Amino acid sequence: MNRIGDRAVVLGGSMGGLLAARALAEFYDTVTVVERDVLPAGAGNRRGVPQGYHAHLLLASGAQAMDELFPGLLDDLVSDGVPRIAYGDMAGIHLTLGGHTFGRGGSVRKGPPTYMPSRPFLEGRVRSRLRGFPNVTILDGHGAGELTATADRRRVTGVHVGSGGRARTLTADLVVDARGRGARTPAVLEGLGYGRPEEERLVVHVAYSSQLLRIPPGTLREKLVFAGAQPGRPTGMGLLACENDTWMFTASGTAGREPPSDLTGMIGFVEQFTPRHVIDAIRGAEPVGPVARHRYPSSQWRHYERMSRFPDGLLVFGDAICSFNPVYGQGMTVAALEAHALRKCLDRSDSGVASRFFRASVRPVGTAWKFAIGSDLALPEVEGPRPWGVRIGNAYVDRILAAAETDPAVADRFLRISGLYDPPLTLAHPALVARVCAANVRRRRSTSNAERYDTSAAPAR
Ligand SMILES: Cc1cc2nc3c(=O)[nH]c(=O)nc-3n(C[C@H](O)[C@H](O)[C@H](O)COP(=O)(O)OP(=O)(O)OC[C@H]3O[C@@H](n4cnc5c(N)ncnc54)[C@H](O)[C@@H]3O)c2cc1C
Repeated sequence: MNRIGDRAVVLGGSMGGLLAARALAEFYDTVTVVERDVLPAGAGNRRGVPQGYHAHLLLASGAQAMDELFPGLLDDLVSDGVPRIAYGDMAGIHLTLGGHTFGRGGSVRKGPPTYMPSRPFLEGRVRSRLRGFPNVTILDGHGAGELTATADRRRVTGVHVGSGGRARTLTADLVVDARGRGARTPAVLEGLGYGRPEEERLVVHVAYSSQLLRIPPGTLREKLVFAGAQPGRPTGMGLLACENDTWMFTASGTAGREPPSDLTGMIGFVEQFTPRHVIDAIRGAEPVGPVARHRYPSSQWRHYERMSRFPDGLLVFGDAICSFNPVYGQGMTVAALEAHALRKCLDRSDSGVASRFFRASVRPVGTAWKFAIGSDLALPEVEGPRPWGVRIGNAYVDRILAAAETDPAVADRFLRISGLYDPPLTLAHPALVARVCAANVRRRRSTSNAERYDTSAAPAR
């Protein structure tokens, strides 16, 4: 281990901040996490994380990355009743993507699992693990304000924090801004004379309505039901089994389609593209608490790695770098992968950490970004540039999804890649391309045979 400094301060104590703090705990004598909200003792929703009321998936790669940071975390989640579902276990999933419903027969080797704790439950567990590090302090109920810097503005030296009208300054060798997509780091950098990072943005206007439900055990054999938007119908739904026999039911709309804010309206909104037995289960469920709503305007990526100058003593982390359309369930996984990137950067040397970390974060962020943006642009309802690479990529993905209807190996491969587990290049693996082609040829043949023998539309002689 490479000891780097006396104190690191992390601004924001949500998943990004907690994971960053875990990475820093190996390299600084003390790590202080500053969180504006007063934090609940265990699992609980709070103002600063409004997304906590909505469906959250922990993708397999993120789950494994978190378990390496907090060994035993996943086993604890499972023993606390958190459902998990392995790639390849299609019996437990009903999945419709781009209008293609994945086949549920056949068998492929079972892969690593995706976990489905509710968001507050996961954050509570990670927070309690972090509290177990003797050199980490979580200072909740404290808002982070202006950063302090040396007179020549080459180094950030700390941050002003306030609580109940009282202010103080925390000095730090490193300040990590993990205050989410609304973090004001670009303005801070501009104020210090560094300019603002370039920003990429795709307006998606996603809206969520979510209702926590209690469904009697044994009602559904699926643990995860998901029907994504498709061209011509930019609406979707998810039903996820969570801990304590609760289920999170979410109805979503893209490009300004707004799901209703009452359970009956939500059911009507998703009824057309949700299996009948699932609708019946939702109708018969007991609602827990009120329906929650969330609006998400745009995916945004702040390219700190492209800045020619950056002050020492400052990093940006998690959603504050890049915030993805939540429909793809990537944010926490990318934050966990960033924590590993940060750990590696700090382990190598203490100089130039910011530029090395920002460059290293491009890999997980960029992979997730391309997947999310490409998928959004497959919907004609989303406005944005569609260069030929995106169009060809989306046409190929549509063939993959069509093949996944009948070929479980293709379904498995696609889920591993979209789950950020396997690298995107494996989409072009010759064996996969061959299976996709073969399945699409079979599909076309059976469609044209069906049309040839379908005389129902023929005029009566
Ligand atoms: C509706 C929705 C659904 C999602 N679903 C998924 C999913 O299925 N899977 C997945 O992996 N990801 C999902 N995400 C993304 C995921 O929630 C985030 O990526 C994750 O929380 C990491 O974000 P973060 O910690 O960087 O920022 P945030 O979660 O936004 O946290 C920012 C923190 O900073 C604190 N803060 C803000 N200002 C200050 C201040 N001045 N001083 C001190 N503290 C401050 C806030 O209180 C908060 O705790 C979803 C997001 C949304 C919106």
